[in-house]
Formats: sequence, structure tokens, C-alpha cells
Amino acid sequence: LFDYEQNAADELSVNFVSPYAKVLLGVSPDVLLTDPCHVLQHMVPEDVVTLQQQHAQAFRSQQPYECTARLLRPDGQTVWVQMMATPTPVADKPGVTLWSGFVFDVTDRMQLETELRHMAFHDPLTGAHNRRSFMQGLAQEMHRVQRTGEVGALLMLDIDHFKRVNDTWGHDVGDAVLKHLVGVLQAGLRQLDMLGRLGGEEFAVLLPATQLEGALELAERLRQAVAHTPAPVHGSEGPSVAYTISIGVALLGCETTHPDDVLKRADSAMYLAKSTGRYRVCAEPVTSVPTGATHAAAAA
Ligand code: GH3
Ligand code: MG
Ligand code: MG
Repeated sequence: LFDYEQNAADELSVNFVSPYAKVLLGVSPDVLLTDPCHVLQHMVPEDVVTLQQQHAQAFRSQQPYECTARLLRPDGQTVWVQMMATPTPVADKPGVTLWSGFVFDVTDRMQLETELRHMAFHDPLTGAHNRRSFMQGLAQEMHRVQRTGEVGALLMLDIDHFKRVNDTWGHDVGDAVLKHLVGVLQAGLRQLDMLGRLGGEEFAVLLPATQLEGALELAERLRQAVAHTPAPVHGSEGPSVAYTISIGVALLGCETTHPDDVLKRADSAMYLAKSTGRYRVCAEPVTSVPTGATHAAAAA
């Protein structure tokens, strides 16, 4: 709990800070009584800016305020706190306002919110973005492409003969292969690329600011990386499962306006890769004719 006075020049003088400050901050209330701004030294710097803006706004409007910030405790722990205060004019001191409020630890709630947010946007098995989150990212990227005239690309990936993996090794090992695949793919992607699990053993990668040539090169690298990195079964001592993927590539051109359209084009390129032997990269529509196992599909 705290009470402080704000005068007409926005100077603060603290009347009271409860002993809980020591628990929450590791700072004695006496320190805060003489220097209320000392609390800022214990705050994550970007939160200081927001907190100061919110206080300035509350001081101007003389309205209650509520803000959330991260405090760095002397023991190295970060705690989320919520701070609330309400103003009351001081009868015998013109221009002076008494702010009474409290600060409380909301770390558990913030951690839970972070977990829930992660759960809402990610696939629980592999940690890749879930379909909904991926489609949001794709729609955003397509807007950007339309606005700026830049390029972007989409890869659709599907494990070859994945049923055989399940049938031979069991569903648990199948799950482990899916997790392993995501690890291999993530290792080959840039920070701004987005990997999504669209369903089952089907994944998609969004490649912002990428031309067809770059997308084909990356797809080829991923295809080979997956084939050369078998998934260990039952720890590193046990056998490993070798598997391959087929990849379809499509561009997010300005002429494509709906995310479903580009997904369909990448999907049909991927099915072309399947129907022409699997363990391949195919692109649609035709804009170049790469060599090796990378093929361009006939334009629909
Ligand atoms: P293709 O090369 O044509 O893609 O052959 P495939 O065997 O991979 O064919 P298909 O896509 O029809 O089969 C996908 C299989 O993936 C069927 C399903 O049992 C399995 N599967 C889907 N989701 C999961 C999952 O979460 N875990 C496991 N272990 N298997 C899954
Ligand atoms: Mg498959
Ligand atoms: Mg499939």
C-alpha cells in the first residue's frame, strides 16, 4: 500500500509505504519514502517509459490509474506487478492531490496468460504455429505484399509414406518424428519465416521477402536436411527413423488476393511432387525450370 502527495509542480512526497515493499521489491519502505523514483531503478527499462507516460496522463487528468510493469528483484527474479491508485484533493492544501493505491504481484496470472496465448497460437505436439495462427500470418503477409509490391513465398510440406512410419514403429514414434521434423525445419529457417502445422503430417512455411529462386533453394535445402537427419527413436542409443518430405512452392504474387488461393497453389505443387515420385520440390506456376529433383509444375 502507498500514499503520496502530488503538488501543482508535479513534485511527489510519499506519506506511507507498507512493509510489503521489502518482500515485493527487496527495498526497504524507508528508501521509497525519501525517494519514490527509486522504484524505477528496479523496473525493466521499457516498462519505465510506459509507466511514466501513464502517470503523466493520470496527473494531468486527475483520474485513477492502473498499470502493469516488470520489476527486477535483487535476487535476479522478475516479478510482474499491477499498480493502481486513486486521487483525492487535499482539503487544506490547494493544488495538492493525495494518491492512494497499492501494488500487487500478478506474476502467476501473467505467466498463465502467456501460456494460454502460446496454446492458442501453437500446436501442442510440435510447438509450430497452429493452422489458425499460420493463416493469420499468411493473410498479413499477403496484405504487405499487395501494399508494397514486394514478394513472398509459401512452401507446403508433407511427409512421404508417413503411414508406414506409424505402421512400422507405432504412433508414439510417429509423433516423435513429427517433433523431430519441426526441429530440423526450424534449424534451416530464418527468424522471420513462419512454420505452421496445418494438420496431421502436413506443414507450411511462410517466407516473407523471398523470390521464387530463393524459395526453391531453401525448399531444396530443407528436403535434403530432413533426408540426411533421421529421427532418433528411444534416445540417441536406439535406432533411428529415416524419412523424407515432398514440398510444393507457390509465390504470394500481387494477383493472388486470398490466402486460400495461394495455399491451394502450393498444395497442388506439393501433390505434383507426390505424384511424380515423392522426395521432391515442385513449384507452381512455372517461372523457371530448376534441375535435379526440383521441378516446376505446368501452369494450371
Ligand atoms: P504420402 O507420401 O502420400 O503423403 O503418404 P502418407 O502415408 O504420408 O499418406 P497420408 O498423408 O494419407 O497419411 C498421413 C498419415 O499421418 C495418416 C495418419 O495416421 C498420420 N497422422 C496424422 N496426424 C498424426 C499425428 O499427430 N501423429 C501420428 N503419429 N500420425 C499422424
Ligand atoms: Mg504424407
Ligand atoms: Mg498428408
